[in-house]
Amino acid sequence: MNSTDRYAVFGSPINHSKSPRIHRLFAEQTSQDLNYVAQEVTAEIFVSAVSEFFAQGGKGLNCTVPLKELAYQFADKKTDRAESAKAVNTLVLLANGTILGDNTDGVGLVTDLMVNHNVELKNKRVLIVGAGGAARGIIDPLLDQQLDCLVVVNRTADKALQLAIEFNHSFESCGFNELHHQPFDVILNATSASLSNELPPLPENLLAENGVCYDLAYGNEPTAFVRWGELQNASQSLDGLGMLVEQAAEAFALWRGVRPDTKTVIDLLNVERSV
Ligand code: NDP
Repeated sequence: MNSTDRYAVFGSPINHSKSPRIHRLFAEQTSQDLNYVAQEVTAEIFVSAVSEFFAQGGKGLNCTVPLKELAYQFADKKTDRAESAKAVNTLVLLANGTILGDNTDGVGLVTDLMVNHNVELKNKRVLIVGAGGAARGIIDPLLDQQLDCLVVVNRTADKALQLAIEFNHSFESCGFNELHHQPFDVILNATSASLSNELPPLPENLLAENGVCYDLAYGNEPTAFVRWGELQNASQSLDGLGMLVEQAAEAFALWRGVRPDTKTVIDLLNVERSV
């Protein structure tokens, strides 16, 4: 019998996922015997695909677009951060056979910002653009950093308002036409606009002097939002590759009990995408 532990990322579309590459690099680095593949799974077949994966001995899963809310519903037990996000990106088979759901996106973002890029968040004015699944996952980990203020702006303003109600009004919400605030120190693009090379309708003078722009999306070329940040003279205009690696490391640590070194993996992926 094959004793190699099996892991996978489920999502749709999934063919360009970097997760298999990242987890194989982690496994190599930490001498863990595991197999990690990407599998195309739509929302319609999610429950049967996950049930089959675990029934056949799978140990853990990552779930990405559009499956995070379904993964939240599937998990028998949730971590506090998954519970507050109402979205799960990591499923773990526990020793008693039940499935734990976690959300490692927020800690991935905060680690990438604060540790990898030395971005200070305490007492800073932070704007999240977008109110979808990714925004949900990053709100609490950001609020934990004792920000000066957090605002969520969304194309569909009502969706941002619903999010604010759900999070007990711990931040302000608005639509783009209501965005008349003091400049922000950190602007996070949590919309999917970059995936179609589009830019949310952001007003001029939104970024404070020496402010930082961060696009949760990433690509081989600078995203539309990263380019916008550069035009606004951001001190750093970053994309979400580091967040992707950090959230993966958090999932890997949950599954394997060992924490991989992320810097070498981020450096390698940055070299690979620049050639
Ligand atoms: P969702 O589909 O849940 O949400 C999409 C959001 O984008 C909504 O708020 C939507 O607004 C907004 N939006 C889409 N197009 C536009 C546009 N042209 N202009 C303005 N707003 C727009 O997606 P997710 O939240 O799951 O993902 C968002 C992004 O985060 C994706 O790019 C994803 O790749 C990235 N991500 C990166 C991770 C990483 O590890 N680096 C982890 C998780 C996500 P509306 O409500 O009005 O429709």
